[in-house]
Amino acid sequence: MRAMVLHEPKPAEENPLRLEDVPVPEPGDREIRVKITYCGVCHTDLHTVEGEIKAKLPVIPGHEIVGVVDKKGKNANRFEMGERVGIAWLNYTCGECEYCKKGMENLCPNARFTGFHVNGGYAEYTIIHEDFAYKIPSLFPDEHAPPLLCAGIVGYRAYKLTEPRRGDKLAIFGFGASAAIAIQIAIYMGLEVYVFTRNPERRKLAEFLGASWTGDYNDTPPSKYERCVVYTPAGWMVPVALEHLKPGGVVSLGGIYMTEIPPMDYERHLYYEKKLLSTTAATRKDGEELMELAGKIPIRTHTQVFGLEEANEVLKILKKRQLKATGVLKI
Ligand SMILES: [Zn+2]
Ligand SMILES: [Zn+2]
Repeated sequence: MRAMVLHEPKPAEENPLRLEDVPVPEPGDREIRVKITYCGVCHTDLHTVEGEIKAKLPVIPGHEIVGVVDKKGKNANRFEMGERVGIAWLNYTCGECEYCKKGMENLCPNARFTGFHVNGGYAEYTIIHEDFAYKIPSLFPDEHAPPLLCAGIVGYRAYKLTEPRRGDKLAIFGFGASAAIAIQIAIYMGLEVYVFTRNPERRKLAEFLGASWTGDYNDTPPSKYERCVVYTPAGWMVPVALEHLKPGGVVSLGGIYMTEIPPMDYERHLYYEKKLLSTTAATRKDGEELMELAGKIPIRTHTQVFGLEEANEVLKILKKRQLKATGVLKI
């Protein structure tokens, strides 16, 4: 099968991925093989190919995978042949550690991630344990589903961790793919949403999706808010987000990494029982809830389609922040 393979991390400009012909993988016990139709290209893939995070090499990146079940391993009964499934970042958890047992599998120290520890979706086929694949709501065309599987799930968890309630005000800092999905859930759940972003185009999109106020990061919102998600990895925004937060409110940080957070003043930023927490990956429960919401609302996503062999190009455009929507590879 054709696959874009990473052997050695290097800057995206140097084309780290190589188009190769590799053997089609065979599903083992309780595994399914998926014939891939589309795979999204995510910022985490960029960090992987550039070596900022250390993948197991060689690896086929890609963790926003949509396709159909093409072969079932022994004892794999959850899906029918030909059924459409999605594969996300969380590829496997042990089920036995203290975190897995407490329903916190996103913190499992033995977790494996798709397109990082095991081969992902920049290829024609991949395999996964059937318990870690998702059903995708039928109204989504294949090419619009990939953003749900990473930006969607992680963005939803970051939102959920703020303990949102109907009538609350939610502030969103940064308006990328995760935020564009989270805002649709928040509006659906009856929250009022403020969006902070520097980009005027993104502000327009936020207003279109229902934000009642938008502004730049240093602007003052019309009132303080109870809930807040910081989706950008810019540490300096953390005290800014906390300063506008109401007593007893929650700020969650949605990024996989964050630049240095400046010193904070206890009284101004944290006192009055303000809560600050990070979001680390997501559980399968988060994924299933998000898929259900995606079908019910229904959530709209925006994608820009490329060919498999263009993966290096997409990563370069992503790095320059010049993608108009989530880049997806048509396999
Ligand atoms: Zn991702
Ligand atoms: Zn575990």
